Amino acid sequence: MSPLDNALLAIERACGSGSVIRDESLREGYAGDESETTPCIPEAVVRASSTEEVSQVMRAAFEHGVPVTPRGGGTGRVGGAVPVRGGIVLTFERMASIKHIDRNELTTRVQPGVITGELKRTVEEDLLYYPPDPNSRDSCAIGGNLATNAGGPRAFKYGVTREYVLGMEVVLADGTVLQLGHETKKGVTGYDLTALVVGSEGTLGIVTEATLRLIPKPEATVTLLACFSGLDEVAPAVQTLLSQGHVPSCIELLDSEAIRIVRPEAGLTIPDETKAILLVELDGEAGRLDGDLEVCGNALTDLGALEVLVAQTSGERDRLWASRRELSHSLRRQAKNKLSEDVVVPRTKMADLLRTCAELSDENELVIPTYGHAGDGNLHVNFLWDDPDQKRKVDDAVKRLFERVIELRGTLSGEHGIGVLKAPYLPMEQSLALIDLQQRIKDVFDPKHILNPGKIFPADAKRFHGVC
Ligand SMILES: Cc1cc2nc3c(=O)[nH]c(=O)nc-3n(C[C@H](O)[C@H](O)[C@H](O)COP(=O)(O)OP(=O)(O)OC[C@H]3O[C@@H](n4cnc5c(N)ncnc54)[C@H](O)[C@@H]3O)c2cc1C
Repeated sequence: MSPLDNALLAIERACGSGSVIRDESLREGYAGDESETTPCIPEAVVRASSTEEVSQVMRAAFEHGVPVTPRGGGTGRVGGAVPVRGGIVLTFERMASIKHIDRNELTTRVQPGVITGELKRTVEEDLLYYPPDPNSRDSCAIGGNLATNAGGPRAFKYGVTREYVLGMEVVLADGTVLQLGHETKKGVTGYDLTALVVGSEGTLGIVTEATLRLIPKPEATVTLLACFSGLDEVAPAVQTLLSQGHVPSCIELLDSEAIRIVRPEAGLTIPDETKAILLVELDGEAGRLDGDLEVCGNALTDLGALEVLVAQTSGERDRLWASRRELSHSLRRQAKNKLSEDVVVPRTKMADLLRTCAELSDENELVIPTYGHAGDGNLHVNFLWDDPDQKRKVDDAVKRLFERVIELRGTLSGEHGIGVLKAPYLPMEQSLALIDLQQRIKDVFDPKHILNPGKIFPADAKRFHGVC
């Protein structure tokens, strides 16, 4: 019997045969994610029902040297959940319960398969709020969010997933179950391994439970659209708005291509000459919000907005957000191929980044729609092309984009992670010594390299740094 057969036999004994999927037509559904990574059909899919089962799966995989790729909702944008080295895909749809909501401590204990939007809606029924809000919230899972340290529009005011994680239960590659962190708001015992595992893309451990911090739900929310006649007006407007002390819950940028897509669905009459939009949301006490809205709207008008439109009803707001959340999928339908980058620059450098995108578009005759989390300087730069011959141009443009981002003291990924797609570029941002240190950490957690192998670290980091 092969090592895989031996491992699966042990897993079936521990978890029951119904937990293991071998049928190819079913396995195909676990081959890819929402990125351009070439799908790889796993040799088996295991649906774990408990921490104990995850531990048994890992013990068997460790003993027989079989790769295991954890998978949440499969909405990742860099191939993180794609089983590039084969083996087992481990899923958590059977571990999807919100185990506890503590209204006094403002915490919740959840399993990794909980869909993020469901968690948000559930706690909101109790007037509590879980701020992390990736635009994929209705299809991604908490386990995936923890593994990628997901952000989203509201990260501008509330921060990213890591800031809401107090503790986690994690299963290591050899099946050891660890409790990381704490349940209390404060806690500084030992190294902060919780922070290390959050964002580690499933390469250090498997999250089987997490204690997350909640906050009181904001009483009310208002959304406005500031329409500008040029993209170059937007970055200074954001900068000035924030330096004036406004604290929106999010500030999203849409360029003209994104506007073309959103316009028919947005439900608001956007002036024809609009070339860029800032979608600004304010939340807080209901009694103060109308005043804040007026002040912020006036500030945006003073900063050159052609018009400031306010979503008047929750229906208008929902339609606007639905089209914003669908933007990525809508863009994908515009061309045969789409590559979406997720770069970040200091907010003061956003104008330089937007200029670079415009130059790359002109010089290479490429369509490069750009939108994203302007308040964080985190933009989704999309490359669209039909003709396969254009791929070389796209690769060159991506490399130049990354070089410019590093020059501007930015980073290659604000929220999607490195996974497979960005691994070749990691040495552009990180020194050999830093990559080496992280690989040694990986060795400690996963000495046989069975946990989500083939992710984050490029094979040729040394060559990139001229050390061969
Ligand atoms: C339309 C669209 C909009 C998006 N908008 C945003 C956004 O606004 N902000 C943002 O941050 N991202 C966004 N994303 C990207 C994506 O949704 C996030 O990266 C999300 O956190 C992935 O969650 P998932 O459950 O789908 O994980 P998957 O794609 O299944 O996996 C992602 C990574 O997590 C690992 N993993 C999954 N579960 C576990 C576990 N239990 N333990 C350990 N590792 C695990 C996987 O191995 C993989 O490396 C968007 C994606 C799409 C398609």
